[in-house]
Amino acid sequence: MDCRTAEGMVSRYLNHTLNTEELEAFLDHVNGCSSCYEELETYFIVQEAMQKLDTADREGNLDFKNLLEEDLERSRRHVQRRKLFRFLAAVLICLVAGALLILLIYVVMEIKEFL
Ligand SMILES: [Zn+2]
Repeated sequence: MDCRTAEGMVSRYLNHTLNTEELEAFLDHVNGCSSCYEELETYFIVQEAMQKLDTADREGNLDFKNLLEEDLERSRRHVQRRKLFRFLAAVLICLVAGALLILLIYVVMEIKEFL
C-alpha cells in the first residue's frame, strides 16, 4: 500500500468502515510508516477531543496517544480474529467436503455390490 492510499483510509479507519482486508493492509502500512502514523494520530486526536467535548467527559482518559495505541491494538486483534475465523471455516468446509466424498465413495461401492 502506498501513502496516498493509506491517507485516504484514515477517516474510514476512524469510522470503522474498512473491511478486514483494507484494515489489515492499513494497519501494516501505518505500523511501518511514521508519516502516515502521524497523520492518523492527528485525525484520531481531533476526533477523540471532539467526542470528549460532546460527552463532557473531561476527567476521562486524555492520553490520546495511548488511546490510539489501544484502538490500533483492538483493530489488530479484530483482523486476527477474522483471519482465524476464516481459517477455521475453511478447515471445516474441507472436513465436511472430505466426509461427503468418503460417504459418496462408500455409497457407490455399496450400490456396486448390489448390482
Ligand atoms: Zn505511509
